[in-house]
Amino acid sequence: MTDASTESTAVRRLWQDLGLPGLVDVHTHFMPDNVLRKVWAYFDALGGYWPITYRDDEAARVARLREFGVRRYTALFYAHRPGMAAWLNDWAAGFAADHPDCLHGATLYPEPEARDYVPAAIAAGARVFKAHVQVGGYDPRDPLLDEAWGALADAGVPAVVHCGSGPLPGEHTGPGPFGEVLRRHPGLTAIIAHAGSPEYTAFLDLAERYPGVHLDTTMVFTRFTERRAPFPADGYPRLKDLADRILLGTDYPNIPYPYLEQLDALVGLDLGDDWLRGVLHDNAARLFDL
Ligand SMILES: [Zn+2]
Repeated sequence: MTDASTESTAVRRLWQDLGLPGLVDVHTHFMPDNVLRKVWAYFDALGGYWPITYRDDEAARVARLREFGVRRYTALFYAHRPGMAAWLNDWAAGFAADHPDCLHGATLYPEPEARDYVPAAIAAGARVFKAHVQVGGYDPRDPLLDEAWGALADAGVPAVVHCGSGPLPGEHTGPGPFGEVLRRHPGLTAIIAHAGSPEYTAFLDLAERYPGVHLDTTMVFTRFTERRAPFPADGYPRLKDLADRILLGTDYPNIPYPYLEQLDALVGLDLGDDWLRGVLHDNAARLFDL
């Protein structure tokens, strides 16, 4: 693992050289400790395939983002069964109150209570939602979510949606089901996690069709992902055309390589300094009105 202060210095130099005030990372994970431990146990069970690079206690994980110069980050978490989302949302409200750099997060699940706790979380100041179609094992078109998507669209609150079929496909992953949600709620601000990996092309199509659709870079373009789900060559010019809707995401702390690797992968695309400034900071600063 990279020496911590060496890595922080390299990360800071990268954004300083671009004249940025720091980074905004729209895809990082914070959740109650017992939940995060289960997530780590899941990756550990893969037998060394996915080592967690930043397996630190919560205070150290937060401090590290400060050292990197991440001005704002998210606390993404998700529910995989009914009855979980509301208490996770309560936890997140407390976490955001204690950590002003964190964009207050919330989640949703297809259950009757979503009708109440989604607007309640928005009213309480939630600025970003997370939905995970594969881990949640639900259809994003579920009628029990329809009002929730509508409430998010009306409030202009973005949702980070993991709906691509990577790293694991689910019954309702892929561009079809979530594409239908967008057809019903064309004003929804959606941030497609992992740029929709591995269905990059179809999610680029959705981003071009709906002005509220953004793509996050989480794990995309890194050597780890390129070996498994390479980004298509004809997608790069489209990334450039969508310059103002590509957002830095990393999956920190649950990544099998150093944070810097994500940033270096983006630099390596050679799409220009203006593009990088938008992706690493300015696009999210605009979206979240920082
Ligand atoms: Zn993630």
